[in-house]
Amino acid sequence: MKSFQEKSCPQCSLPKLKTWEELTDEQKFLVERLPLNTGFTLEERKKHLFCPRCWFEKISDENQSC
Ligand SMILES: [Zn+2]
Repeated sequence: MKSFQEKSCPQCSLPKLKTWEELTDEQKFLVERLPLNTGFTLEERKKHLFCPRCWFEKISDENQSC
């Protein structure tokens, strides 16, 4: 089982990263402008978790299947 720890920010230790759905429209706008250039589409990034404090973007492994 994955622990709640996985949802804390590794950069600023904020205990609650947010999903795309939890972001406000303004925050979504900011996220879209984040300088993340790793080849993810916006659709992919909507599955990530975001830190509303330092804007760390956590890439979820949720979609990995065995
Ligand atoms: Zn953070």
